[in-house]
Amino acid sequence: MTTRHDHWIDGRPEAPAGGTWLATLDPATRLPGDEVAAGGPADIGRAVAAAERARHGWAARSPAERGTVLHRIADAIEADAGTLMRLERECTGKVPAQLRLEADMSAAYFRYYAGVVRAAGHGRVIEQGAGAHTYTRYEPYGVVGVITPWNLPLNQACRALAPALAMGNAVVAKPSEFTSASTLHLARLATRAGLPDGVLNVVTGTGPDAGAALAAHPGVRRLSFTGSVATGRYLAGVAGGRLVPVTLELGGRSPLVVFADADLDGAVAAAVTAVAANSGQVCSATARLLIEESVHDEVVDRVVTAVEKLRPGVDFGPLITEAQYAQVLDLLAGAPVPPATGGGPYPRGPKARGLFVRPTVYARVDPRARIARAEVFGPVLVTLPFRDEAEALAMANDTDYGLVAAVWSGDLARGLRLAERIEAGQVAVNGGPLTVETPFGGYRHSGYGREKGLAALYEYAQLKTVSASLG
Ligand code: NAD
Repeated sequence: MTTRHDHWIDGRPEAPAGGTWLATLDPATRLPGDEVAAGGPADIGRAVAAAERARHGWAARSPAERGTVLHRIADAIEADAGTLMRLERECTGKVPAQLRLEADMSAAYFRYYAGVVRAAGHGRVIEQGAGAHTYTRYEPYGVVGVITPWNLPLNQACRALAPALAMGNAVVAKPSEFTSASTLHLARLATRAGLPDGVLNVVTGTGPDAGAALAAHPGVRRLSFTGSVATGRYLAGVAGGRLVPVTLELGGRSPLVVFADADLDGAVAAAVTAVAANSGQVCSATARLLIEESVHDEVVDRVVTAVEKLRPGVDFGPLITEAQYAQVLDLLAGAPVPPATGGGPYPRGPKARGLFVRPTVYARVDPRARIARAEVFGPVLVTLPFRDEAEALAMANDTDYGLVAAVWSGDLARGLRLAERIEAGQVAVNGGPLTVETPFGGYRHSGYGREKGLAALYEYAQLKTVSASLG
């Protein structure tokens, strides 16, 4: 039987004002899944009104009190991870290890900001001599609109919600219409965990109907968007017109640079992860392999051997939407060289019914080819050889994007030299960790503003100066 998911507004489920629901799909089987409320301006209006009523009470609580509620939400995510993972699997086809990782990360965001807001959510005193008392304070914006995509649905929602709520904002979240159920369940868990009614509302629906209405609503004082460059550009225009700040976490075409002196086992494993993790549907996937000429063919051979061992449905899942599946197949069809492995869907069997694409490697690709420049968002690697450090740097920066880069070299000084010259928001040298603590965001077309880490806390607060003359 099909389950229908209503919006979550003011601490309870609310049927869509228009009385219609949207179908979802299990991409592993292409069988129909749950239905989600088709929201529009009326539903957004109700949610923003609930958030507006709730925001003053929530903002008035101390950081310690808000932190306690956030810890309880993290507890609830951990305790009910099984349900969250099931809801996520049903509309994404993700494999168990990926689901577990995202559930753990989701709880970690709430834990981190529960503590961080107590330690760093306050302003400072500015000394101006006797006779004055001047200080700064961080104040919430009020109602924040959070719009998220389908590739890491719960994780991306929590990444924005945790700091926004920690700083005392109320939120209206609009998840992707393809993957809304886990964000709705999160809001239910948060309410049960003690988050006051109206502080976190979730309205589902399409981008043009629900997302655009949220961005345009005069009660929304700040926006956070994760998604495509095209939608990001549109929302930047809306936010500019309304003079509200917006964080834009957009796409990427991130390089993985491998020098001949690198730990090749580590570099090959990192390349395989770029294909396998969420089937490459990760904005930060380092799937553009730049390999020093002297080891290029050896690295390609090792990557191809490892990639061919990946098991569909075990090590990687299907693509999540029909549109994404069609887009990846179109990019593969236009590749200028034959694939070293993969190159299309599974010809027969159960994986041929789902939206599975075979892990694919294209070696020695023309850097001008579409497959080398466009964001693929699928289990696809391209390799390009380079001669020396200067050429590696030029190729790494030869992209419109600037989200992430990885550098592998036995010479750490060279790794760090490149890290400082690559134009991207985060660069990992020799597998350096990028975690909840490390700020995340883009250069160039990958967007602006930062999520994660201490930096994100201040994205969701405005700084006020108070100065008193003591007479
Ligand atoms: P998308 O831009 O189509 O949709 C993202 C969200 O925006 C969805 O909730 C959608 O309903 C909504 N939306 C669409 N049109 C809208 C409009 N006119 N007004 C308001 N909202 C609208 O992106 P997608 O296809 O869901 O996600 C894939 C993209 O997301 C990729 O490009 C990927 O790189 C990017 N992404 C970025 C990050 C990051 O952190 N930088 C993380 C994950 C995904």
